[in-house]
Amino acid sequence: MQKLINRDSIDAKYKWRLTDLVASDDDWEDLYSQISTRMQELIGYQGKLADESSLLECLDLESDLSKKFGRLIAYATMHYHTDESNTKYQAMTDRVERLAVKFGEITSFITPELTKFSTTRLSDIASKSEFVAYAPYLKKIIKDKRHILSEKEEKILSKVGSFSGGFENIFSMIDNVDIKWDKVKTPEGDMDMSHGRYSYFLQSPDRKVRKRAFTSMFGAYKDIINTISAVYSGSVKKDVFYAEARGYKSAMAKALSREDINPKVYTNLLSSIHGALKTLHSYVAYRKKALGYDKLHMYDMYVPICEGADIKLEYEDACDLVKKALGVMGEDYISVINTALTDGWVDVYENKGKRSGAYSWGVYGVHPYVLFNYTKTTHDVFTIAHELGHAMHSYYSSHAQPYACHDYEIFVAEIASTVNEVLLIKYLLASTEDKKLKKYLLSYFLDMFRTTIFRQTMFSEFEKFSHEKVEQGQPLTWEVMSDEYHRLNRQYYGKSVVSDDLIRYEWARIPHFYSAFYVYKYATGMICAVTIADRIFRGEEGALEKYKEFLSIGGSKTPLETLAVAGLDLVSTKEVFKTAMKVFEDTLIQLKSLDD
Ligand SMILES: [Zn+2]
Repeated sequence: MQKLINRDSIDAKYKWRLTDLVASDDDWEDLYSQISTRMQELIGYQGKLADESSLLECLDLESDLSKKFGRLIAYATMHYHTDESNTKYQAMTDRVERLAVKFGEITSFITPELTKFSTTRLSDIASKSEFVAYAPYLKKIIKDKRHILSEKEEKILSKVGSFSGGFENIFSMIDNVDIKWDKVKTPEGDMDMSHGRYSYFLQSPDRKVRKRAFTSMFGAYKDIINTISAVYSGSVKKDVFYAEARGYKSAMAKALSREDINPKVYTNLLSSIHGALKTLHSYVAYRKKALGYDKLHMYDMYVPICEGADIKLEYEDACDLVKKALGVMGEDYISVINTALTDGWVDVYENKGKRSGAYSWGVYGVHPYVLFNYTKTTHDVFTIAHELGHAMHSYYSSHAQPYACHDYEIFVAEIASTVNEVLLIKYLLASTEDKKLKKYLLSYFLDMFRTTIFRQTMFSEFEKFSHEKVEQGQPLTWEVMSDEYHRLNRQYYGKSVVSDDLIRYEWARIPHFYSAFYVYKYATGMICAVTIADRIFRGEEGALEKYKEFLSIGGSKTPLETLAVAGLDLVSTKEVFKTAMKVFEDTLIQLKSLDD
């Protein structure tokens, strides 16, 4: 392992410029006191929102203050992320987070007060030009209104809320603190197991290490399966309780309604993926053949099937490659990327104390920032394309929309980043003759499909099952859940893999199950991205223009309306799902053809 360098010894051109947010720490303090003082003014609007000019002033002030908050939070947090041993910025981050909580408390009267307005009144206000920035917010209140109960009932529900979140906390305690894994024997000695290490072990070329890791991981969940089942079934019952109390058709309908997603999207996803399982089975069979095994096990699913083909590019060359791959997006897009890469938006290299991983952080009225920890791996080149996708989505939305509706929903949040990754894969495949690199890229792409689309859809199916059981008044025991999970696992991966018995406990280690009906968005996001990238790469007429319009919508429309702008319909047809699955099939055919 190379020793990490100090941040001071990194050239300024590889560091982001946080003075674009506020000029100095002193200015940050000034802005902090300005916000703390001005947010008190909001209290004065309580009970007065029936007057339209007061309402507009109140919403404008709230919006202006949260916009400033954005700069305040970003400045402290990003400084802290570049050196997490820096107590000064850590303290500033804590302070601004506490201030944000206070801000949330102060403004918490606004939505309930508006909910009391009649639907006609709310629609009338939403249609007025001075309220245009708040129209999506007001429409959401109209939509949720019929699920608001009487004052007395709401009071009871809010008291229930003080302990109903307990299931997630209990799971998190078990999963992060109390769980006991057996050590994993490796050629370098016995190693402790952890969530982070598990994926590292599963990629080990040493099959014995993979098997031991698999046994250690799921053996631990098997040991406590009664406890986890009780916690998870409690959490599902909680979801069903809230859905019933608020008059939703089902727990799924309630969860999807938050982003106004038609449940047909969910069922279309499940049935379309079922239709494509044959191709997944064929990929699993190929994996078995490529690894040269008689029997493929669940613990052989993550080991790379072809040797690493790292393209080992210097950062500048990696950026040039990404820009070439995104050339199809047009000059305007590339010119913003050039600004991003050269004008203090990006923090490139690792240094002592810097936070690991990568992210993009859009700051309204300033510009997006991007954090990398660039090393010369192929994966890191993909990370550049991915994070720049997020940054560009923020950039386009922030430029086109007023602050109050610039922020897009989670449902569409991974589309722009994945479009860029897919375009990079397509570009590299078209421009290289290197067979080893081609194989690497094709299997990388297939694994993206397997983990992001198939695996998450299988999870989605499990969540649907567990919630429906409770809705039908049936018991949710560990046997019922583990049997169903095992059945799904066999159905999804097919006969080429041994469906090891311990895999039946896998559901017990998925933290996302405590935010029910969330993971399907990973699958739909990638499905949309693959379809968009396919259309753009083929040069389909109007595809690029529609996509750029999609990037500019932010939160001014619902996610499904936003997708319609990009020319995607997930409700009345399965076309988009089919296109993505066809890309999956073609990718597998290409990979197989390289063996000839
Ligand atoms: Zn992302």
